[in-house]
Amino acid sequence: MKKLQEVLRDWEAVIGLEVHTELTTLETKMFCDCRLSHDDEPNTNVCPVCLGMPGALPVPNRKAIESIVMAGLATNCEIQPRSYFYRKHYFYPDMSKNYQTTQGPVAFCMYGHLDLEVTGQGAKERPDSTVSKASDGSYVAPIRILRIHMEEDAAKMVHVGGTEGRITSAAESLIDYNRCGTPLIELVTEPDLRTPEEARLFMEKLRQTFLTLGISDCSLENGSMRCDGNVSIRRRGTTEFGTKTEMKNINSFKSLHNALEYEICRQAEVLEEGGIVYQETRHWEPSKRRTVVMRVKETADDYRMYPDPDLAPFDLSDEFVERCRARVPELPDAKRDRYINDFGLKRADAAQIAGDPATATFFEQAVATVKDKVVPTVANVVVNLVPATKAVTSAQVASLSSLLAADAITFAQAREVLEVIDGTTMDPEKIVDERGMRQSTDTDALSATVEEVLARCTDQVRQYKEGNKKVVGFLVGQCMKASRGTGNPKLFNQLLRERLEA
Ligand code: ADP
Ligand code: MG
Ligand code: ZN
Repeated sequence: MKKLQEVLRDWEAVIGLEVHTELTTLETKMFCDCRLSHDDEPNTNVCPVCLGMPGALPVPNRKAIESIVMAGLATNCEIQPRSYFYRKHYFYPDMSKNYQTTQGPVAFCMYGHLDLEVTGQGAKERPDSTVSKASDGSYVAPIRILRIHMEEDAAKMVHVGGTEGRITSAAESLIDYNRCGTPLIELVTEPDLRTPEEARLFMEKLRQTFLTLGISDCSLENGSMRCDGNVSIRRRGTTEFGTKTEMKNINSFKSLHNALEYEICRQAEVLEEGGIVYQETRHWEPSKRRTVVMRVKETADDYRMYPDPDLAPFDLSDEFVERCRARVPELPDAKRDRYINDFGLKRADAAQIAGDPATATFFEQAVATVKDKVVPTVANVVVNLVPATKAVTSAQVASLSSLLAADAITFAQAREVLEVIDGTTMDPEKIVDERGMRQSTDTDALSATVEEVLARCTDQVRQYKEGNKKVVGFLVGQCMKASRGTGNPKLFNQLLRERLEA
């Protein structure tokens, strides 16, 4: 098969995502007061409502409605003053009442959008001129969201003896109804995404947004956030959509990108060979890096959707919506901009920290106790060193960053100190002093070392003067050696250059 970049020169990909998110931070299920926990003994958190016993009546979970309204507000949706719960009928053991309670044409949240910033290598996937690109190739892609609706999750089925979780050749199927009735929100995008990278970024941004709202733990790995990728291709310059395929079983950002990449290339090959792309559901097999057919769509599914007679039309008052709005915290984009403007952080660092609420809180705690000019160093430490640690505190990071910013230690030493204090309550200052790591920033002493080294290394000095500037590295090494590692290499470098240029 051809490579993605090559395919995307002739073909344009059209991608739409359907994203399911379990509202895992709630205490109870969507329509009953059963406990929300998947870790409990199977089939212990169940009742007549979530098992669908005749005569049991559902009562909507107010907190779940608050969560979906917050999700809608954070993704620029219009919150509908009146929406409806529907019954979607199907027969499968994972839903014992034989219909899923979901929403019809009018969902709680409609017509939103998220803007994606596509930068770096990923921006190269989009070769066309339908977006305006900055001089570095980056661009902004506005992605429309059709709707976010409320529904309930089905039970969890485990097929023992099946292959890759599929039912084929399964010896036995087990059902855990604990998950049945878990509040679930489904977001559907318009087919506005054009590259696998954009799809990946959309999911990432959505995850960051929902995490910041605190409505879910958003784990792709554990399935609390799940995504189906719909994709078709069309010849560049044409406007009509091609036939799409839908991919299930995507449980990481990487899988989403790779599955779409594979599928775009596969469809291009089929069409270029004069074949037909069938509308079908395909299954991504990460280990084999390919998609395989799950089922072919022959006719439209007949879910016999109708408004649930047990649930009245749902009206949301302006006050309710305003209360939800007040609870929406500062979102990642706003946070990123604040970090850039107030702290002078690099855009990439600011975005990375702001994207994860736990990291942002940690960063802000560390920053609260340091001098202004140390803040970018704190960001550097949080982005580049902290992820490799298990348990360091914001106070330790603050102290370490101050040492680093004052050139008392090098970046490599900072890494070493973190390894030592990880999981302890030790103060980095103490480690630095105990181990004699503190580097001299006394310029007079350092200058004396520089003079001594330059007097000795006449060959290198001549090479430098002849234009070989790289030789400074060797001279810094000599200075470090002469000072027995106590001098600051950054300062040595600076002093050496000053002296050699003079
Ligand atoms: P279905 O009825 O097959 O579920 P929908 O119209 O509900 O299809 O759309 C499901 C998802 O597929 C949406 O995210 C939508 O943006 C996307 N989609 C629709 N048509 C196409 C297409 N031709 N190519 C790619 N994605 C599409
Ligand atoms: Mg659909
Ligand atoms: Zn229940």
